[in-house]
Amino acid sequence: MTTRDDALALDSADPLARLRDQFALPAGTIYLDGNSLGVLPAAAAQRAQMVLATEWGEGLIRSWNDAGWFALPRRLGDKLAPLIGAAPGEVVLTDTISVNLFKLLSAGLHLQQARAPTRRVIVSERANFPTDLYIAQGLIKQLDRGYTLRLVDDAAALPDAIDDTTALVMLTHVNYRTGYMHDMATLTRLIQQKGALALWDLAHSAGAVPVDLNGVEADYALGCTYKYLNGGPGAPAFVWVPQRHQKTLTQPLSGWWGHRAPFAMTSDYQPDDGIGRFLCGTQPIVSLALVECGLDVFSQTDMHALRRKSLALADLFIDQVQARCGAFGLKLITPREHAQRGSQVSFEHPQGYAVIQALSARGVIGDYREPHGMRFGFTPLYTRFVDIWDAVDALYHVLASETWRAPEFAVRGNVT
Ligand SMILES: *Cc1c(COP(=O)(O)O)cnc(C)c1O
Repeated sequence: MTTRDDALALDSADPLARLRDQFALPAGTIYLDGNSLGVLPAAAAQRAQMVLATEWGEGLIRSWNDAGWFALPRRLGDKLAPLIGAAPGEVVLTDTISVNLFKLLSAGLHLQQARAPTRRVIVSERANFPTDLYIAQGLIKQLDRGYTLRLVDDAAALPDAIDDTTALVMLTHVNYRTGYMHDMATLTRLIQQKGALALWDLAHSAGAVPVDLNGVEADYALGCTYKYLNGGPGAPAFVWVPQRHQKTLTQPLSGWWGHRAPFAMTSDYQPDDGIGRFLCGTQPIVSLALVECGLDVFSQTDMHALRRKSLALADLFIDQVQARCGAFGLKLITPREHAQRGSQVSFEHPQGYAVIQALSARGVIGDYREPHGMRFGFTPLYTRFVDIWDAVDALYHVLASETWRAPEFAVRGNVT
């Protein structure tokens, strides 16, 4: 790969190129942030209009049945299931990762309390996404029963950190900052051999890399729909619990949507027999309905085809940045090995925040994560090879001309 025409040739030969038309991308923008907020599927505007005008406007209360609103968390769960190696009836869309993590951690600790009461440690990584650690900390404090959170500083230290005091291991499959991807099969086996439960956060995996939850026999998992799945800002997250655990795991947010007969209106909580027990209360139907538009695009391809293109896009990006921007002190913090990375590439730079802002002013959108991390996400449904070429070109110009030094690029918003 030496010229922009070579990138255009790769796009001409790309079997996934046709899917780009199904997204409403803003003109003049190269979007490398689908790992944080996916782009708008073209079908979503019409779907939103239908939910508002027809289902809500005209159908009103009847739409809980007639438009399938009540069944939506399960129906869309079944549609998402193939992307993560789950079976029908094993996934629901609901709430947020943070809230679902509270449910799943509680359920795991409760199960272990009955099976192995001396296991009082949750193992995770210090580099995990903060909300995952915060939720574990909050739950431990709330339970006040001597549980602790043991954090390792390096993934290589995980095997030694898991022992006969470990109740469960909570890991994020692909790290949000570095893009490092764990070997889910090997770690799941190791965790279970040591008698602990394996809980996987798929925030940066669902729709990004092939995942085979049933194949690796993971214990349970969760993830969000607004990143690679293009579900929309704040769209409900998902929970996966395999058939074999559904009757033994119980969660404490025992709201009526998780009851086996919500409209029996009884005074006693009895959990649904299946995945429905991980629901809590009434869902944001307008937002939830739009998740289907993103999933419908995924149904037209498969995760292995997407993975091939994702790796090719990221390899091109890394090669071009190293070839053209080598003089500017960028440090690659994402593994080069395919088996160890997700669908993003991160470089550290002392002025990473300002560089990302200056790039954005040129129409190339990535994002920034403390400390010093410039993060670029690759979303093969709508990212072209020529976009990679042009993005690196823009990065080169920002670094070579030092436009990032302009004072406006140092200003921080609430969200970086
Ligand atoms: C994005 C992300 C979250 C977000 O949690 P919400 O509760 O949906 O805001 C949680 N965990 C990980 C690993 C993430 O990447």
